[in-house]
This record gives sequence, C-alpha cells and structure tokens, in this order.
Amino acid sequence: MANVVEMDYFSSFKKQLESEGIDYVANQIDFDVAPVDCLRFLAELHRVFGTERVSLLDERVRRSAFLVAGGVLTLPQDTESIRCDPSWRVQTSIPPALKDRTVDIVCMDATTEQSLIACMTSGANGVQVDFDDGFQCGWQNVRNSHTTLKNVVATRTASETSDAVLLVRPRSLNLSEFHVLVDGAPVSGSLFDFGVHMFHSVKSTIANKECDAFPERSQLGLNQEFLLAYYKLLVAIAHQRGIAATGGMSPLFPSGAATELSPEELESVYKGKLAEAELGFDGALVAHRSAVEACRKAFSNRSDIKVASIDGDIWHYHKSLLAIPKGDITLAGVNSSITVLVLYILKWLKGVGATAINGVVEDLATAEINRALLWRWIRSHIKTKEGVLISFQYVLKSAREIAMSNNVKPVDFTNLERVISILLHSHSFIDFMPTIMYPFVTTIQFEAQLGTLLEWICEGVVRVTPKQLETNRLDFLLSSGIHGNETAPIELMDKILQMISTDQLIPVGCRLLFIYGNPDSIRAGKRFIDVDINRLFNGRHSDQEYSGCLESKRAELLERISLEFFTALKPKSNLVVEQIHYDMHTAIRGSKIEKFAIYPKSNASSPKQLARLAQSDLEAVVIQNEVGRSFSWFTHSKAKVESFTLELGKASPFKQNQEIDLSRLENKLISMIDGSEGCIDLDSANNLQLFKVSREIIKKTDSFKLNLDLNYVNSIRCPVFQLPCGSKRCYDPGLYTCPKPGLICPLGHVVHASHEAKDVFNI
Ligand SMILES: [Zn+2]
Repeated sequence: MANVVEMDYFSSFKKQLESEGIDYVANQIDFDVAPVDCLRFLAELHRVFGTERVSLLDERVRRSAFLVAGGVLTLPQDTESIRCDPSWRVQTSIPPALKDRTVDIVCMDATTEQSLIACMTSGANGVQVDFDDGFQCGWQNVRNSHTTLKNVVATRTASETSDAVLLVRPRSLNLSEFHVLVDGAPVSGSLFDFGVHMFHSVKSTIANKECDAFPERSQLGLNQEFLLAYYKLLVAIAHQRGIAATGGMSPLFPSGAATELSPEELESVYKGKLAEAELGFDGALVAHRSAVEACRKAFSNRSDIKVASIDGDIWHYHKSLLAIPKGDITLAGVNSSITVLVLYILKWLKGVGATAINGVVEDLATAEINRALLWRWIRSHIKTKEGVLISFQYVLKSAREIAMSNNVKPVDFTNLERVISILLHSHSFIDFMPTIMYPFVTTIQFEAQLGTLLEWICEGVVRVTPKQLETNRLDFLLSSGIHGNETAPIELMDKILQMISTDQLIPVGCRLLFIYGNPDSIRAGKRFIDVDINRLFNGRHSDQEYSGCLESKRAELLERISLEFFTALKPKSNLVVEQIHYDMHTAIRGSKIEKFAIYPKSNASSPKQLARLAQSDLEAVVIQNEVGRSFSWFTHSKAKVESFTLELGKASPFKQNQEIDLSRLENKLISMIDGSEGCIDLDSANNLQLFKVSREIIKKTDSFKLNLDLNYVNSIRCPVFQLPCGSKRCYDPGLYTCPKPGLICPLGHVVHASHEAKDVFNI
C-alpha cells in the first residue's frame, strides 16, 4: 500500500515536472540523487548556461574547419588585454581551504563511500573527485558517485575531522546527461555534475566561508572598525544636535563575597571610561556604586585630553558601520558565550532581568550578543581555533553541564532546553529573545465561571481546555485569517470564543486551539504582508527566498504550535481521540460552487468527515493528493490529523459578511465542541460532489490565458467553476478537452526560481 502511494507521488512529481518542461528519465529511487527542487535547479542552469556551452562547442567546429582550410593557430584577440596586463590575478583572496595545494589526490572511484573516505583521510590537502578523464559516465556510475558525494558531504562536514578538501571535477563540456531533459534537450553533463553536487552540499560549502562568522565576544571592542565608527557617529551627531553623548556601561560587579570593586577593577573602569572620554563622550554608565568615582574621574580629567574631533562629512562613517569584525573564535570564547546565555536565560525565567556572571553584569543586550554569535556559528559549522566544531549538540551538552553544576531543577532545565532549542535551532534568526521566553513566565489565562480554561499562547493563538480533561474525545484546531482579508471565518471564531468565555458554550471532552493565522495582515486588511503564508508551510518558510519575510517566521511558529497541540500536549488517555483541523477561508470572488473543502489526502477519505462537511452546508470536496504547502497540508502530513481547507464564500471586509450564511457550519462546530453532535448520518456525504485533482496547469508567462466557455463561468478569476463533459478550454501550449465533468480551482501560487509568479490551477 505504501509503495502504491509512493508511486503515486513519484508519477505526480513527474507529471508536475513535465508541465515545467523537465523530463527525468529515471526510476523512483533516482529522486534521491536529484530531487524535484534539484531538477528545477538543473533546468535553470541549463536555461542560463546551455546556449553558451553549445556555442563553445560550435566554436570548436569552426576552429577545426578554419585549420583544415589552411588557417594558422593564433592566440585569441579578445583576451589580448589580459595578456598585456601583468597585474591581472585570478582572485585577490584565495579561500583559505584552497591555499595549500601541495598534494591533491584523485579519487578514481567515488561510487562507494569507502574509497572516497580513504582518499579524504589520506593526508592529502585536496581530493579530486573525477567525473572527467577517469570516469565512465554510465548512469550507474553517475548515480552512485553523486549519492556517495551527497552522503559523505552530509556526514563528514559535521564531524570534527581534518579531511582533505573535496574538489569535484565535472564532466567535460561535450558530454550530455540523457537522464535529464529540459525543454526536450538533454542537459550538459558538466552542469549536471556541478548542479547536483552544489545542490546537496551548498550549505556546508557556504558555511566554510571564512568571513561568515563573527569573532568571539571578547574581541568585539573599540578595536573593531564598525564599533569605533558607531561611537564616533554617536558623539558627532549628539553634539551637532546639542545633546549629551553618553558611552557604554562599565559592567564590572563585585564577585563572590566582595562588596566593592578591587583597585585593579577600578583601574580597568577608569581606563575604559577614559578611552570613551577621548572619543568625545560626555559621560557613561556604571553597574556598581563603587565604580562611580572612577568613572567621574575619567571624565573630569577630560580637559587634559585632546578630544578627538571628527572633521568633514561625518556621514562617511556609515561605510565603516558595515565592516565585518575580525578576530578569532576560541573554545574559551565559545564556552563563555554559552555560560552567559544559559545563566541569563535561567535567571530571566526566574524573574531576574540583569545579573552578574563572573563579575560582569549581563543584561538582555549582552545575552543577545552571545545568542546571536552562537546561532551564527552553529549555522556556519564553525570550528574553534582548537578545532572543535560548534554544533547545537555541543551547546546543549555544555548547557547541561552548566545547569548540573548550578544545581538547576529538572523542570527549570526543561524550560531552558526548550528556549535554547527554539533560539539556536531555528532556521531563521529570531529577532528578540523575550518573544520566546515570555510565554514561559506569563500565563495570560481566563477561567470561565463553569471552569473552562482559556489560555493566550501568543499573538493570535488561544487554547481552550475543558474543565474535565479525562473524557477527552476531540482535539480541534480551528484556524482563520491565514489570509488577512478573509474576515467571515475570523468573525465566526470570535463568536465561538465569546460563547465559550461566557459559558454559553461549554466544551465537553474537547480541547480546542484557535489560531488567527496572520495578525499583521488581518490588521492591514490585506491578503498578506510580504508573501502568501499559505504556501510557506511544510518547511517552505525556510527557503532562502523567503528569509526575512514576515510570514516565514509566522509559518514556522504556527507549525510548531499546531504540532505541539496535536502531539506533545496530547493527554494520556485510553480513549480514542479524534483530531481535526479546519482551516477556514473565503475566496476573492464569488464562485460557481460557493462552499467547498480541500481535503489533503493520500489514502482513503473518511466518510464521517465528509458527512460532517455536508451537514455544514459545504457543497463539494476537492481531494488533493499532490504535496502541498498549505497549513492544512502541514497538519495532515506532519500531525496525521483530518485536515481541511474550507472555502466559505466571498471575502468581504469585517462586518460586511451578511451575504455569507455560515449558520449550519456554526451549528456543526458547536455540536462538535459541546458533544451534542450525536450519531452522524453517513448518508449525508452523498450530497457532496467529490473531485480529484487530475492535472495542474502552471502559468509560466504573463501571456498565459485560461480561455473558458463563459457559459459556464462568470469570471476568469472565479475560484471554482464547473466544466461539463466535452467542454473545451485552451491554454498555452494547447487545447484540452474535458473528458468528464470537472471543476477548476486555483489552489495557490508558487514562485518560480526566477521569482516569476505562477498561478497553479487544479482541475
Ligand atoms: Zn484564503
């Protein structure tokens, strides 16, 4: 059965790729070598560089014809200027990993991991994996060699070895790879070898770039260009605008039993503040009362010092603000960052916002610096000077040791571990630590008079727990506002929450999670702010092209919260708990079928679920078996729950939803929540029209037109319209006749690698 489903996926991927002009002449297992996104990458390489390759090969033919006709070989004219310029260099700075090229070894056979690893550990500086001269380019060899490379890169770069640098030598320009056809032509073997290898290893390759990581915190001082420029700008601007410029805080704090700073520490305070005074600051901050005099002395001695002045245009310092700080990363520096972060989080969770650690006051700002450094180092697979890889596991192991030596209680350690995991494991950088820590120290909750508990989890997320949880029979996730301008379901959820909080509706055996998907876009009354969030689920939010988008972080958060609701928080009970997710939407325009559900499904549909939808006034269900990026696809595939995207009519602004009648859905939801639903009449499912996704049409250019017989359609942008059997519709590149009655609905949008938007229509 599983194989059948997988085969379905395989063929559906192939179909999808074909519609994008990509043909993969290979077996299902070969998707491991070149998965769907890799094939798309290869197609892009082919489309960008393929022509140039062919013209180079053509040039070769022209040259030999020229020779045959009696021509004499000469050096090409268009590179004359380079030959005449002795200062011309390949690159100003060679990547550090490639500086020492004393010994490289050729790996003649990369089809097994054994032989490749033997070369990597041979003591040579580099290993050349040869797809060129020493390679027989049959598919078996191509597939096995790339599989080896992929596996070795994934496992070896994360280990603490001094392996030789991998140098992949692709096939020569004349060879084609006939297993991947793009727009009907085979891709170049060289682009295939390059593309597949880069696709699988780009993360660790980028990580090895030297400039990618900041030095440790102890080296982030006034010696760094960006910080000095920042200080100078601050002073100059403050004085220009007639306001005092105050410097940083001297964080020294008496440690141990001491109540005052020692003379040495006071000297250090004085020196630090004197340096700031020299830069023109008017004063500074200290952390301990015993440092007040030392600080005052530094600034009162200022008259003796020539105050550095900034001449000319102060704004030229802006450039220096972007200078990447330089320096080392030592094990001691890393451990110090971990210590500060761990102890700071523990204190914060216990109610303390600034704390002295090893004689230095740490506050949120300094904890954030350490957190940011650790996150960056982990993501870049940085090794310390001593050769220790800074991994998430290393940080967690150290955190555990620190917690042990500080006698931290298990429950506190669990919270610490959770906070650290979220902060350091997240793919995108989390802006502020308190956003993550706040829910651990704050329970905004409300208990209805009859005992129902309503808890605010984070913005737009409310969890409802019935008074008696032992009889739990249903975990119900209701979401709306995934698109901010689809207001009717938001109003419906509000109404239900109001009823629950006032005991007009009492959940019985039903835990609920209410999610308002995209609060920012709800406030703005727009579908989305940066990008449609409903195409970012199932991990898509981590794609490079969405980094920094508001919605990608929200999608990551909603994935975590919903998964937690359905799994981690599931109460231990012998009862079979039904788990359901309704993600409620409305559509931009009125539609032929007003209310329908999209049912992410890779196996049999549940008659009970279908009957419920029919009883809720839904008219049709589209069974979607292509892998999706929607919220309901995520909960279906990851939490294994019965998930539906409900399209409930035409979208209107708040309080203008009179046109939409959601009363039957509302009654259904209420009966599911309070347990009054009773026996479900499965026959009512017969009232539903069922559709299966049979084909996708992807819009590739703006000239694309979906021409439909307007007898059946009100508007080309109708979300759903029906097609009688035999109706003809044409779209580029051809004419298609509907073999049986069908339905057409755009289910979403995907963004092409070239950033061109395409509409995906499912028929
Ligand atoms: Zn929507």
